[in-house]
Amino acid sequence: MTGTLGQRLEAVRRRIAAAEAQYRREPGSVRLLAVSKTQPVEALREALRAGQSAFGENYLQEAQAKQQALAGTGIQWHFIGPLQSNKAKPVAGCFDWVHSVDRLRLARRLNDHRPDDAEPLNICLQVNISGEQSKSGVAPEAVAELAAALQEFPRLRLRGLMCIPAPADNAAGRRRPFRALRQLQERLVADGYPLDTLSMGMSADLEEAIAEGATLVRVGTDIFGPRTNPLHTAGDDTGGRGAA
Ligand SMILES: *Cc1c(COP(=O)(O)O)cnc(C)c1O
Repeated sequence: MTGTLGQRLEAVRRRIAAAEAQYRREPGSVRLLAVSKTQPVEALREALRAGQSAFGENYLQEAQAKQQALAGTGIQWHFIGPLQSNKAKPVAGCFDWVHSVDRLRLARRLNDHRPDDAEPLNICLQVNISGEQSKSGVAPEAVAELAAALQEFPRLRLRGLMCIPAPADNAAGRRRPFRALRQLQERLVADGYPLDTLSMGMSADLEEAIAEGATLVRVGTDIFGPRTNPLHTAGDDTGGRGAA
């Protein structure tokens, strides 16, 4: 990691802009979500000063402490980690987005607990796009049914799909699962769902994700540096790659 946080953030923005140009995406059509899990509040403040306003967190307690410390700053908070149904209530109360909805029971609880005075909660369905045994995410063939079920929930607003593919060692292999997610999304749009978000791509593969249609990339390491001090509690998640 070299340079200041502001310089690294700027470098990530330049990578996004270069990929938009290279793959003939509309300039500015890809949003950057800064994934700040395990990073201290001061790092978020620095990113905020450098113009970053959307942050992704994986661990509820850690996120709540940061939200308290940064109250009034206008940050948009995204929950991106695996989510147990018994944590749906606090998450529904203090986040703007949840990217990791992969089952009906969780969606129902988020809907039931979304405060009436808040905007509907923005939702991405997490898809187990690589078909990995132990991974979170709804199976690709079950996405349409889950999307249909969400129509019953007025406090949720379905925005699109999210994935964390299995690692691949070349660009073509990295693009394949992103393309599959985009095609799933296109099918839902053809069925009438007004989806506008494809949440895919991280530090190591944001270019491939943008090539395949990402509208939001989730970048942690290349902005904040390595995660050396996991603050999360056991049972919440896995650390490292994020969802498992
Ligand atoms: C941690 C995490 C990221 C960021 O990963 P980096 O490789 O550090 O950019 C993105 N998405 C999810 C779901 C994560 O858990």
